[in-house]
Amino acid sequence: MDYKCVKTTCPYCGCGCQMLLEVLDGQVVNTLPSKEPHMNQGKLCIKGHTAHEFVHSKDRLTHPLIRKNGKLEKTTWEDAFNVISSKFSQIKNQYGGDSIGFFSSARSTNEENYLCQKLCRAAFKTNNVDHCARL
Ligand code: SF4
Repeated sequence: MDYKCVKTTCPYCGCGCQMLLEVLDGQVVNTLPSKEPHMNQGKLCIKGHTAHEFVHSKDRLTHPLIRKNGKLEKTTWEDAFNVISSKFSQIKNQYGGDSIGFFSSARSTNEENYLCQKLCRAAFKTNNVDHCARL
């Protein structure tokens, strides 16, 4: 039996709580709070405590999908980005930048959220940007 404990940062929100993932034979089986004196001081909220549960879920998307003829089909990242880019350009050109809105996530880093609003304002010329923490 191969056991190890891996220290990491909770992925669920921007607080950055430190946690330990228990890994048994290559499978993440449990989450424990880190006792080191970080901001979470040996505690995790319920989301952090259950953070390991999605890691090996069969429902996780592991590759991009494109809807063709009403059905989602597996594709490459390059093709997916090309479709996204061409659809966004088509919508912006036809209806203007304010026809598009961006919704960012507390699970993203501050830097990623900054880039999202920059893309929104600079590339699409709209202020239609918000964040899930305001829901
Ligand atoms: S444990 Fe809770 S409060 Fe801490 S980072 Fe995760 S989701 Fe945020």
